[in-house]
Amino acid sequence: MAYKITDACISCGACAAECPVSCISEGDSIYVIDGSTCIDCGNCANVCPVGAPVGE
Ligand code: SF4
Ligand code: SF4
Repeated sequence: MAYKITDACISCGACAAECPVSCISEGDSIYVIDGSTCIDCGNCANVCPVGAPVGE
């Protein structure tokens, strides 16, 4: 289980600042989550202005 960022991402960076395990980084066009490190806390989804991070 891990969160994933969808194409709705506008690359604002808010989620990366709130991730407790720092597994979110800026990708080529959108931010990306390292699924092997994500602990499913949901912080990214809570702070995202466009609802881009989704749990699997
Ligand atoms: Fe980071 Fe939590 Fe989002 Fe996983 S669910 S990417 S641990 S903020
Ligand atoms: Fe993208 Fe949402 Fe993260 Fe901003 S908070 S970088 S829009 S996923």
